[in-house]
Amino acid sequence: MNPIRLLRALTVGVALYVPSLAALELGGQRIEEPGRVDLRLEIPAGAEDPATFIPVTVLTGSRPGPVLLVVAGVHGFEFHSILAAERLADEVDPDMLVGTLMLVRAAHVAAFEGRSPYVNPFDRKNLNRSFPGAADGSQTERIAHALSTELIAKADFVVDAHSGDGAEWLEAFVGVYGGPLATDYEVALAFSKAMNFPRIVRYSMNSQEAIDRGRSLNRQAVAAKRPTVLVEIGENGERDPAKVDALVGGLLGGMGSLGMLPEATGPRAPAPRFFEGESSVPVAHSGIWHPVQSSGRLVEEGEVLGVIRDYRGRVVETVSAPVAGYALYGLAGPPVRAGDSVMAITRPVTSFE
Ligand SMILES: [Zn+2]
Repeated sequence: MNPIRLLRALTVGVALYVPSLAALELGGQRIEEPGRVDLRLEIPAGAEDPATFIPVTVLTGSRPGPVLLVVAGVHGFEFHSILAAERLADEVDPDMLVGTLMLVRAAHVAAFEGRSPYVNPFDRKNLNRSFPGAADGSQTERIAHALSTELIAKADFVVDAHSGDGAEWLEAFVGVYGGPLATDYEVALAFSKAMNFPRIVRYSMNSQEAIDRGRSLNRQAVAAKRPTVLVEIGENGERDPAKVDALVGGLLGGMGSLGMLPEATGPRAPAPRFFEGESSVPVAHSGIWHPVQSSGRLVEEGEVLGVIRDYRGRVVETVSAPVAGYALYGLAGPPVRAGDSVMAITRPVTSFE
């Protein structure tokens, strides 16, 4: 028995998956028969912005098991997750499936159709900083509320899929939520490893403040005591078929680790590199950002990362790395605004032991 399998036997079987025969209630619809249901969670209009909806495909397996929530398109300009969800809905055969896959095909339809990086086109809020949301709030807050109450609350495991956004470079990675306030971290770590991605970053939830400040979808899952992972692939708003393939394959591999599908038998990528946490690099000036390099690499503390020029061409800020580590993603620019972080630097570790 390999270590992941053993881990699963120890953690998954006991902690998560006492199979439930209860029907799933979603958007007022009762789902209990094996097969596929495509539905819309309707989100009514608010005081100041219009109604919207969340398209969801539910694949109910022929045998009971975990309820997995995969969310695509929290950021509407990050296209790989939305394209991967479309593929996954067709590729997962309910006859082969153990448990239930709830697939949010585009969490933020207004941002997607509006081609709006980071924020909602109506209220200009970042959905991934707006959890748990509010039923009577602005559109972003209403979407967050629906995701929290209708989907995350009904899942046993939560995956949130992203990319580098409109002007953002990014190295592919899986983020696993651990630390004392995370639930079933070992299950999330096994899922992360089964995704066959080159990098795994651990985010340790050590305090309630870490969960609450600008609460993301993953942190909402932590607050709801669900094991959870973030997956990030692709950059600069691209749509690259190879990266969509890698994301689909990763999600199928992760489902294998949960016992929902047969475990992958294909070639394995080299062992992933492990990283711990993330430091941001906030800047003080708005203007035109000229990064030294827009790709992943090791950086030294104090190393110059780029300069910001004003609209007369003068250098108004030279930005250097506050810590040493691995540059994981960052702002490709050229637009930059005071208060933005231009890079996320993570700390390489040999393992998570
Ligand atoms: Zn994103």
